[in-house]
Amino acid sequence: MNRFDLTGKKGLIVGIANQQSIAYGCAKALKEQGASLALSYLNEKAKPHVEPLAKELNAELFLPCDVSKQVQVDALFDEIERHWGKLDFLIHSIAFAPLDDLHGRLVDSSREGFLLAMDLSCHSLMRLVKKSEDLMKNGGSIFAMTYLGSEKVIKNYNLMGPVKAALESSVRYLAYELGAKNIRVHAISPGPIATRAASGLAEFDELLEKANQRSPLDKNLNIDDVGSLVSFLVSDAASSMTGDVIHIDSGYHIMG
Ligand code: NAD
Repeated sequence: MNRFDLTGKKGLIVGIANQQSIAYGCAKALKEQGASLALSYLNEKAKPHVEPLAKELNAELFLPCDVSKQVQVDALFDEIERHWGKLDFLIHSIAFAPLDDLHGRLVDSSREGFLLAMDLSCHSLMRLVKKSEDLMKNGGSIFAMTYLGSEKVIKNYNLMGPVKAALESSVRYLAYELGAKNIRVHAISPGPIATRAASGLAEFDELLEKANQRSPLDKNLNIDDVGSLVSFLVSDAASSMTGDVIHIDSGYHIMG
């Protein structure tokens, strides 16, 4: 038996915006290992960018999901239940913060902006996990994307630092609460990758260059690297791991 094989595993990936998205790297790798996919798109404006990717990956389900709209979340999970009757993995690869708040100092952040960032980037994980729990009848695995700016002060990461810290802590509590159901939960912490979300950070190019220069491995990280990691973690080969924040950043996080 090949414990890395994902044939028969069925999963939902939320967070593909385009071909640069980390979620797309995950979708490609999971598909390559045999998994069946349900993909979502944010709204009608995003749909034309995501639909060709869903077709390319032979996604069995393709539905809208704005996590601020519980009706859409419910409809998405209803469809998964109807179509598959179960779920084996969930990937939460989404983040949002209003640009005014993201570009300013944390101390100056507005209450509304902070709460919105926390709601869409962090509490949305709980909402998706709650819906997944009942469908993960034979156990499962859940992933959320985080960043080193949660642990260390990274210039220009600003209010997303505490939001990602809350996300990572949530992952540990979820791993604890769902462990008895054999549902594993991890946070994946990639180094900087040029994506649409990343382009919202001030001076992102400098961040990318610094990471490339200072990382122990002389290698530029890409979305396929994140996909390979997630495929391993979804597989039965990783069945004794849960609750971790797993860095995938060419070793940058160990540098002083
Ligand atoms: P991306 O722009 O491709 O993906 C962000 C996704 O969030 C988009 O698909 C967008 O539609 C989705 N989103 C925003 N608001 C939403 C809502 N209300 N409902 C549903 N979806 C919503 O950028 P990305 O870099 O692939 O980001 C994915 C995740 O990876 C984020 O959590 C981000 O913080 C994290 N991350 C990114 C990097 C990086 O350098 N790119 C590094 C570490 C972690």
